[in-house]
Amino acid sequence: MVTAGELYVLTATVMTLVALAAALPVLRDIVRDGRERLRKRPAPPVEDGDAGEAVDGVRCRHCGTVNEDGYCEECSRQL
Ligand SMILES: [Zn+2]
Repeated sequence: MVTAGELYVLTATVMTLVALAAALPVLRDIVRDGRERLRKRPAPPVEDGDAGEAVDGVRCRHCGTVNEDGYCEECSRQL
């Protein structure tokens, strides 16, 4: 004769095993997806300026001076 307590333990054990079995493939997929995403992460953008130098900002459309807007202060003053 199986007691209620034994039945409870048996049910809990079975449910735990089933949940674990169901979760394992999902966890494996998550790990695989995370690794793939890390591998596929695009490399940091490389600034390819005129001479290949790193430019912090944009070049003036008029004289080529590095600044923050389309035109440098000097050229925008002339405009
Ligand atoms: Zn300029």
